[in-house]
Amino acid sequence: MDEGMDDAYCGTPAPDPAPLDAGPPYAECVLCRKPTEYPESTRGATLCPVCAWQEAGRTACSG
Ligand SMILES: [Zn+2]
Repeated sequence: MDEGMDDAYCGTPAPDPAPLDAGPPYAECVLCRKPTEYPESTRGATLCPVCAWQEAGRTACSG
C-alpha cells in the first residue's frame, strides 16, 4: 500500500518489478523492450511501469 505519487519524489529507487506471468500478448516497452501492461493493440509509444515511472520522475525533476 505504498503506491501513489508523492510530490517531488526525486532520486528514489524504482518500485519492485511486477512479474508478468504468461498471458495475453503485451506491447513491448519502447525503451527497454520489456512487456508492458498494455495490449499489443495499443497505439503509440508504450512504456513499461518502470520506464513510465522513470519518465514521470524525469519530467517532474527537470530543472
Ligand atoms: Zn521499459
